[in-house]
Amino acid sequence: MRTTLEGRIFDLLVIGGGITGAGVARDAAMRGLEVALVEKDDFASGTSSRSSQLIHGGIRYLEHGQLRMVRESVRERETLLRIAPHLVKPLEFTWPVYRRARVNRTKLRAALSVYNVLAGRYRLPSMYSADSVLEREPLLQRRELKGGASYTDATTDDSRLTLANILSAQAHNAVVLNHTEALRPISRDRDEWLVKVRDGPSEMVTDVRTRVVVNATGPWRLNLERRWPQHRLQRRGSKGVHIALPRERVGNRGAVTMISPEDGRVMFVLPGERLTIVGTTDTWTSEPPDEVRASPADSAYLLNAVDAYFPEARISEADVLSAWAGIRPLADWDPEKNPSDVSREHRITQNGAGMITVSGGKLTTYRAMAEQIVNQVELELGKKPSRCSTGDVELPGNDRAERISAVISADAALREAVCPELPYTMAELRYGVEHEMALTLSDLLMRRTRIAFELSDHGVRVAPQVAEAVAASARWSEYAKRAQVEAYIGEVARVFGAAERSHW
Ligand code: FAD
Repeated sequence: MRTTLEGRIFDLLVIGGGITGAGVARDAAMRGLEVALVEKDDFASGTSSRSSQLIHGGIRYLEHGQLRMVRESVRERETLLRIAPHLVKPLEFTWPVYRRARVNRTKLRAALSVYNVLAGRYRLPSMYSADSVLEREPLLQRRELKGGASYTDATTDDSRLTLANILSAQAHNAVVLNHTEALRPISRDRDEWLVKVRDGPSEMVTDVRTRVVVNATGPWRLNLERRWPQHRLQRRGSKGVHIALPRERVGNRGAVTMISPEDGRVMFVLPGERLTIVGTTDTWTSEPPDEVRASPADSAYLLNAVDAYFPEARISEADVLSAWAGIRPLADWDPEKNPSDVSREHRITQNGAGMITVSGGKLTTYRAMAEQIVNQVELELGKKPSRCSTGDVELPGNDRAERISAVISADAALREAVCPELPYTMAELRYGVEHEMALTLSDLLMRRTRIAFELSDHGVRVAPQVAEAVAASARWSEYAKRAQVEAYIGEVARVFGAAERSHW
């Protein structure tokens, strides 16, 4: 094991290193508990790197009367803007309104007024005429445009937000391990849980002893529980797909909120540096979370919306650079309902003997959710819940750019760009290995950077150079470098489907 888990009894073992588990580990460690966290793949490798990356109140939830959820989300948005200014940035959206739209201008004005009040901002929403909407977004469909509005939410990098929580937990003495899987069955011995965990790199299996377990495995959560028969394992949640398009092809200036022309759902066009990200779909799925991928039908649904809002772009499947999917681990499963109508609120369940399972939730509300879970953990440990301070202490990473510059000062060759199209440097990747617990090429290319999401070959072409550049820090032999590249090609196929081989 990279850090030993043996020979001690933890207060808490968190299983799963997505945003939920990372938030719980940070909170518990900051309260002084003895914490371990194991993640079978990499931190944020599940749903937490496949989100729309919005830290948002969820204006659409107002339609379903979920005021409590919206209030909590807007409060959390403000908290995260404060404690992670380097990771969470304000993002202004334009919401164009067309004739006969499901959400007309009156409804939109009312919704935005409530949204402002819930965020503690007592001001009228910014409503626009059709001409003003077109000044903001000149390439929007003009026909039947009645006007619109703008509002501000926030955006983040979901993998980095997760990693910041992991690094903070570690700084508060938690043992955090990626590529370490908790195995079934989890057994109980007197007042302790015994959890077998397998370390990926060495394949060694170790018993972890802990008083409380938090199952934060998101869409995998039923896998760990012995009581679920196979057919219940099919209840994963709702699948959400995004596609990346060249921004200059779509022509959007900023973020745009759209209503799907197919089923009236709220969707987004989101601006990246050189990309436009479009999402998302929302369909019930039984696909195993390790294998969930975007289908041609998913892409077609998203392209249809882009075509309706930005008709001059004449966008087609050939413009799609990259497409990926994630599973929302919803607390309720009801295929009779439209998944978009199912609440995103979380549920915390306890078995009465120190096993706590989390389902549902959002990236936005992870911190508040973690606070509730850790209160339960303390009660399980026979303590009164102590004060949670995660909303007062800045998340780490504010000095990352400076620290990467220092890597370049020490070795100028690392200034080299990983690929000419994107701003990432080899120094950043070396830093990922040395300071951010990256163990594989996919950790580096999918989550410490987002290269895999931003290139049509998903970074396969540059994988050998990257392996070479980090080999000394990662202690990879010639054989290990080749194995990493092979494994990366496999990972790309698993997450995105096969990369375009013509680019390799
Ligand atoms: P995950 O991130 O899936 O983490 C679970 C982890 O457990 C995984 O990393 C997995 O590898 C690990 N694991 C599984 N089994 C084991 C085991 N046996 N041992 C060890 N580890 C294990 N929310 C927002 O607030 N804003 C948004 O814009 C937004 N957009 C979204 C868009 C889409 C398409 C989707 C799908 C979701 C979106 N969400 C959004 C919701 C948000 O992304 C999720 O609620 C959140 O990421 C779930 O995190 P999690 O930690 O619970 O699950």
